[in-house]
Amino acid sequence: MADEHRSDITWMNWSGKLSAAPRNIAQVGTVEAIQGELLAAREGGWNVRTVGTAHSHYPLLPTDGVLLDTRPLTGLVSVDKTAMTATFRSGTKIHACGRPLLEHGMGLLNQGDIDQQSIGGAIATGTHGTGINLGSLSSAVTQLSLVLVDGSFVTCNHEVEPDLFEAARLSLGALGVVIEVTIQVRDAYRLEERQWLEPLESVMERIEELTQATRHFEYFWWPGQERAVCKSIDVTEEPPRYPLGEEGQRRAWSFEVLPNQRLNPHTEMEYSLPSENGPACIEDINNLLSRHHPEVEWPVEYRTVAGDDVWLSPTGGRSTVTISIHESVRNDETSYYQDAEKIFRSYGGRPHWGKVHYLNRDDLAASYDHWDRWWTVRENVDPTGVLLNDPLRQLRPI
Ligand SMILES: Cc1cc2nc3c(=O)[nH]c(=O)nc-3n(C[C@H](O)[C@H](O)[C@H](O)COP(=O)(O)OP(=O)(O)OC[C@H]3O[C@@H](n4cnc5c(N)ncnc54)[C@H](O)[C@@H]3O)c2cc1C
Repeated sequence: MADEHRSDITWMNWSGKLSAAPRNIAQVGTVEAIQGELLAAREGGWNVRTVGTAHSHYPLLPTDGVLLDTRPLTGLVSVDKTAMTATFRSGTKIHACGRPLLEHGMGLLNQGDIDQQSIGGAIATGTHGTGINLGSLSSAVTQLSLVLVDGSFVTCNHEVEPDLFEAARLSLGALGVVIEVTIQVRDAYRLEERQWLEPLESVMERIEELTQATRHFEYFWWPGQERAVCKSIDVTEEPPRYPLGEEGQRRAWSFEVLPNQRLNPHTEMEYSLPSENGPACIEDINNLLSRHHPEVEWPVEYRTVAGDDVWLSPTGGRSTVTISIHESVRNDETSYYQDAEKIFRSYGGRPHWGKVHYLNRDDLAASYDHWDRWWTVRENVDPTGVLLNDPLRQLRPI
């Protein structure tokens, strides 16, 4: 049993909606420091959760045990120009990947809406960008090294410890502490974006054409508005244009064009659906907003992601549309999100692991073919649940 430690530390996530009073927040920059924290937790009986940059809205991190802060674990370790892979320390923020990769003539295959997350945190939840042929960051991982709860340091890939690798490609921070991430990259490339307003009805009529015609397509639509803000981004051979200018007008290296500023504190729910269900689901969400939640002022976002074979990937096994809904941190989002979740689920939706959802273990078990296998691998490396906080423990198969 853990001792009756009382903490005066307050921890909060990015939005400020989640908080905790951990017994300690330990900055860890070496394998030895992490091994020491895990050994102390095993002996003391408290939990350990690993933090990237705390951008998750789902309570993956709150614990009264120890939070391992991976910010010191940063930087590009190596590149392999034959395999076209790059290895980063797990605490490296996405925005710190672009320039070092460019120096080697390389670039990430894709990235999300912002670039403030750590690479370790991004892969642990299946973070993705948009593009029908582009998978999540987890799907691009080719090798991981991690410290397990027993203190062992393991490197795994498709051939070595393949089950551990498959589970750890999207780990929810519950398999071990990831030290290094090796990820598939490509030749460096430049992108040009274009932004326009178009009636939502017309966008949805030609959604197939729009998503097929461009490398990255997405739109935001604000409740009550007739028109959506559409954005397409494509590869260009033209030189970068500096200053970059505003979102929607940039032409530069991929890592300069893909990320945006999303500064207003909000919460988010996002579901991944089979792509053919996107249009009908959008219609239902929009009816929900106008008929039952006219108070909501925050936008709906529509993106696409390629299917993959990652065990716990929301985009696993199917070409995917993701639909995100947002709400200010000042408002209670529960009723809106619960109503929307019913719609998303009716279209075969699986929740983003880093965003709000209300599913229980049975719902999730029914959504993932590899659910039991993932837990079996997890339980083998951490049978006493050192790496589980309360919300994750509630998902553990009984
Ligand atoms: C403004 C904003 C924009 C966003 N945009 C997108 C987007 O475009 N696309 C998208 O898919 N998602 C998006 N997200 C969600 C976000 O990408 C995920 O929640 C992501 O996991 C956050 O990364 P992080 O480094 O903050 O991880 P954290 O939130 O700190 O942690 C997330 C998980 O990763 C685990 N973890 C972190 N580091 C390690 C490690 N070294 N070893 C083992 N486990 C680890 C943690 O234990 C936890 O389970 C956005 C979130 C916000 C707030």
